[in-house]
Amino acid sequence: MKKEENRKLTVQELPVGDIVEAGTAVNFHTGSWRSQRPVWDKDKCIHCLTCWISCPDNSIKIAPDEKKTTVVRGIDYDHCKGCGICASECPVKIRAITMEQERK
Ligand code: SF4
Ligand code: SF4
Repeated sequence: MKKEENRKLTVQELPVGDIVEAGTAVNFHTGSWRSQRPVWDKDKCIHCLTCWISCPDNSIKIAPDEKKTTVVRGIDYDHCKGCGICASECPVKIRAITMEQERK
């Protein structure tokens, strides 16, 4: 009986429109099918965070620096899908993020 209660629901049994468990996207490494990768140049970056705001996959890594200012720390390649929005939105003239061909 207990075993039956703990079994996973089939697709047909799932309630329509429900999220079974929220906040699980971080567990899925969805960057594996990327064809282009963003490359961040820390020397050109002015840390405006436009890329962080623009990224649809929350793949721009940020953290406070020693002055407690939030700065870019790099790119989360496990979840970045290579859409290129960060590179196209970067306001620096010689862009601080450029897209390069993915190397497997
Ligand atoms: S948008 Fe460009 S300059 Fe601004 S934080 Fe991102 S990489 Fe740096
Ligand atoms: S390429 Fe797209 S998914 Fe990857 S960091 Fe830039 S905006 Fe985010």
